[in-house]
Amino acid sequence: MRSPADDRLDSLPVRRVGRSGLGVSALSLGLWQNFGDAAPADDQRSLVLHAVDSGVVHFDLANNYGPPPGSAETGFGRILRRDLAAHRHELSISTKAGYRQWPGPRGEGGSRGYLLASLDQSLRRLGIDEVDIFYSHRFDPSTPLEETIGALDTAVRSGRALYAGISSYSATRTLQALEIADALGLRLTVHQPSYSLLNRWIEVPDDSGRSLVEVAAAAGTGLVTFSPLAQGLLTDRYLDGVPADSRAAKGTSFQRQYLSEQNLASVRSLRDIALRRGQTLAQMALAWCLRDERVSAVLVGARTTAQLDENLAALEAPPFSAKELDAIDGAAVEGGLNLWASRSSE
Ligand code: NAP
Repeated sequence: MRSPADDRLDSLPVRRVGRSGLGVSALSLGLWQNFGDAAPADDQRSLVLHAVDSGVVHFDLANNYGPPPGSAETGFGRILRRDLAAHRHELSISTKAGYRQWPGPRGEGGSRGYLLASLDQSLRRLGIDEVDIFYSHRFDPSTPLEETIGALDTAVRSGRALYAGISSYSATRTLQALEIADALGLRLTVHQPSYSLLNRWIEVPDDSGRSLVEVAAAAGTGLVTFSPLAQGLLTDRYLDGVPADSRAAKGTSFQRQYLSEQNLASVRSLRDIALRRGQTLAQMALAWCLRDERVSAVLVGARTTAQLDENLAALEAPPFSAKELDAIDGAAVEGGLNLWASRSSE
């Protein structure tokens, strides 16, 4: 067991999640990748403890993170028990259910049976009695939305989750979910969408005539955004080819077409703007997501503590000038990176 740094809780800016009392570090750590059974347990432990020492108080998981599915929660649970048992109350831990977790019709989607059984399994793997946030991981067109949101309501009322959230739902589906939640007396405290310099879908109005950012802000729902570095594209990582240890080389979620000439040209122009600001591209990409106070936190992934340190330093960035924001708008072309678009609506 190792004691965390004494000054950790004064180290990072904290933002409220929408109109709620939940406060999270503006930069929070996601355990989607780099935390499965293939990643050495010592590396996982070093990353999590380094994040805690640095002031990260929010850790984002899901039932299916691994591989294999569930292993990220099991590994994080081990670190919690071994090193952080006395500090659980300082941390906000989220999990989700929505994608395939086990075979059969009850093993994915938005049904009541799946969401609640999955949440119980997540709590067992994590070794805790409740999570801070439980999300419906995706909209499920084959389940009535009333049932999915009703299951989130049960999760909160039964004490298994302190706050309810939805992830990747379109503005239209979010409006519907909010109405259902309202009728149940449930607050949808947080929405977790993808968002980055090359993936700005949340700013664009959909069929409802409103953007997700507007819908969430009007409802007091906080935005905790994911893949702010476009899985590593918005860093220096791919400027001279594909490194062997990179996510693109692994070829699972990072599709090779993301490395199009157009995207790499955007990345080069954005890097030049970042350098003029005295930042790395990764740092500018993170600071840019946080330029809007309606974004409560960005969820970064990190494979090494050096990556995490570079990312945390983004929070020391000077504010953007109007001229810089214009230059960024000119350079940041939509990159076809929203892997989750088909799970937003139907
Ligand atoms: P990301 O921060 O965009 O990408 C992380 C990857 O970028 C790292 O694995 C690393 O890639 C690279 N990287 C990070 N910092 C770097 C640096 N300073 N320099 C160079 N490369 C750097 O985020 P993400 O991992 O895609 O997503 C973050 C979190 O969001 C996830 O863990 C999860 O919690 C959440 N998420 C949620 C959903 C959802 O459906 N709700 C979906 C996806 C993600 P290499 O491994 O190649 O070094």
